[in-house]
Amino acid sequence: MHEPLRYHSTRSSSTETVPLSHAIAAGLAPDGGLYVPDHLPRLDPAAFDPHGTLADTATTLLTPFFAGDALAEDLPAICAEAFTFDAPLRPLPAHPHTLMLELFHGPTSAFKDFGARFLAACLRRLPRADTRPLTILVATSGDTGAAVAAAFHRQPNIRVVILYPDGRVSPRQAHQLGCFGDNITALRVAGRFDDCQRMVKAALNDAALQAEIPLSSANSISLGRLLPQMSYYAHAALRWWREHGTPLNFIIPTGNLGNAMACLWAREMGLPIGEVRLACNANATLPDYFAGADYRPREAVATLANAMDVGAPSNFERLRWTFPDESKLRHLLQAHSVDDATIRRTIATHACDHGEVLCPHTATAMHELDRLREAGDTSAWAVVATAHPAKFEGVVEPLVGHPVAVPPPLAALLERTAHATPLPATAQALVSWLR
Ligand SMILES: *Cc1c(COP(=O)(O)O)cnc(C)c1O
Repeated sequence: MHEPLRYHSTRSSSTETVPLSHAIAAGLAPDGGLYVPDHLPRLDPAAFDPHGTLADTATTLLTPFFAGDALAEDLPAICAEAFTFDAPLRPLPAHPHTLMLELFHGPTSAFKDFGARFLAACLRRLPRADTRPLTILVATSGDTGAAVAAAFHRQPNIRVVILYPDGRVSPRQAHQLGCFGDNITALRVAGRFDDCQRMVKAALNDAALQAEIPLSSANSISLGRLLPQMSYYAHAALRWWREHGTPLNFIIPTGNLGNAMACLWAREMGLPIGEVRLACNANATLPDYFAGADYRPREAVATLANAMDVGAPSNFERLRWTFPDESKLRHLLQAHSVDDATIRRTIATHACDHGEVLCPHTATAMHELDRLREAGDTSAWAVVATAHPAKFEGVVEPLVGHPVAVPPPLAALLERTAHATPLPATAQALVSWLR
């Protein structure tokens, strides 16, 4: 049996604690911090069923986090509902000891599906005192909105309102956001992602509005999205470790640091994960910090890897909580910045030399691997593929010189008609629209 874990904010003392369900339902802690557990539990790799599915691995991994919580009994069912597609660890034939961890086999073809589906499966089971419909607000730079929409589509008593920066997401991303209908509405905002995020925050902090319309959010800082993301790292690393007896290293395309944070937590829990490297686009907040500069959040710049256009990575607070000793933290991780020209070149080269078609986000990680191999590194690396290249065909197809086959879930969404409502980039415009 596991001791019940309690959760507290990264900003407050661990005396004010809440159970996991509460942290999942709330998203952000009341003081603006991020929820973290009392401590990270440890698990022996031998605790996992060697023949288990990804859902089985997730259940074993997450059991200590759910111990004593209202959702504990439902955890196996939640995992079975969320992990209905695989996260294959595919060897790349052209490179010995190189693998691709493919996280894009879900309904919206990006890794955000794992977290969004798990969060939805949790929220669906949590009782609400209020019988009025719950409105979930999501600001998205492209992939989150669609994953959340797919996860909550046609769920009773829930409405999802997506805000995205008009003209700054790929055409297929825009189509995905607008194609669900029913209880999902897409608002195309005449502004940037930061504007969308500011508008959502303002609405969530508006007590009068909240009294009229119950609001919640599904942003990437929610524990309900972070925890399940540990599962595919655990599953892949365990498989490699059973076959080779060595830990597996990962290179992770990074923006808000949610995906990489999950990998680091899995490693802290005792899973056979070796080195972790962060691949960033031209938004160099993390690479600058790990190169020795002070932490300096900044405005995001637009790049080809738009889901990583983040200047103030929201999970940085969790990273600091996890590794309070700054000098140790700086030695623990490496982060590198890749510009758009390099993203283009990496996509073109890998298609031409190896027939491997990469999305712009995955290309940042592949470039980091290329650098390591050039420097003579021969260890086992998994490049994390965060989205399917067909989502970014406008960038990818001219570089690879042929059409990219559309995976069936994406094709099904593209067949639907799409609609988005235009909205000015002001908090007042969103409040009026919601009313
Ligand atoms: C969200 C996203 C990322 C960045 O993930 P974080 O958890 O924000 O670091 C990378 N690639 C793709 C395709 C994404 O959608």
